[in-house]
Amino acid sequence: MPLKDPEERRAYKRRYSKTPKEKERLRRYNQRPEVKEKVNQRVRDRRQWWQGYRERRKERGRITERRKYRETRIALREQVLALFGSACPRCGYSADHRALQIDHVNGDGARERQEGGYSLSWYRGVLRSVQAGEQRYQVLCCNCNWLKRYEDGTTGHDQKPISRTGLPGGQLQLPDGS
Ligand SMILES: [Zn+2]
Repeated sequence: MPLKDPEERRAYKRRYSKTPKEKERLRRYNQRPEVKEKVNQRVRDRRQWWQGYRERRKERGRITERRKYRETRIALREQVLALFGSACPRCGYSADHRALQIDHVNGDGARERQEGGYSLSWYRGVLRSVQAGEQRYQVLCCNCNWLKRYEDGTTGHDQKPISRTGLPGGQLQLPDGS
């Protein structure tokens, strides 16, 4: 008697699979090497897929982290620059923010950067300092920043001011007489 109702059919199959005869048949079937191998292969495949899944998730996470970090850093930098009017106070340069630098007034920026680099916390520290009106930082364009380093003598190891001619005191005449 074929069962038309799917619910009844499933119940019947469930009962049938529990009969001793059928149980024994299934046990023998599952012990066949090719069946065992098939099951094992499925387990291996699944394990491998999950392994790859974890790696893919991690990589996606790393990419998102890097992007978020960069975006936050750029936003913080813009915030700091805006507090200084986003322009070089010496020459007025403001065309490209990439050529504007946040400079340590006392010239110990290099040491500070060595300690923390241009990290988010460095920018946050600068922001706090500027907002507190501490005058520790200023914005300069790349050119003016380099000229300031020459004038302050903070370009290299000798830590001596260097004049326009490249020599202390500027006694040397340039070839064009200037
Ligand atoms: Zn400048």
